[in-house]
Amino acid sequence: MRTKICALCQMEATTLYRVQVTKGKDWIFVCTDCCKKVKLEPNYRYGGTWKGDRH
Ligand SMILES: [Zn+2]
Repeated sequence: MRTKICALCQMEATTLYRVQVTKGKDWIFVCTDCCKKVKLEPNYRYGGTWKGDRH
């Protein structure tokens, strides 16, 4: 099973969400917990889900 590091809390996770938190900035991968937090950002955009257990 593959993992990625969350861009916000640096925790390793098998499911991450591709999100944009600041308008015009780079897309980042965040874990489930951080995704819930960044959803509250006014410039939040969702760009897909990455799963390490299937490819
Ligand atoms: Zn996180």
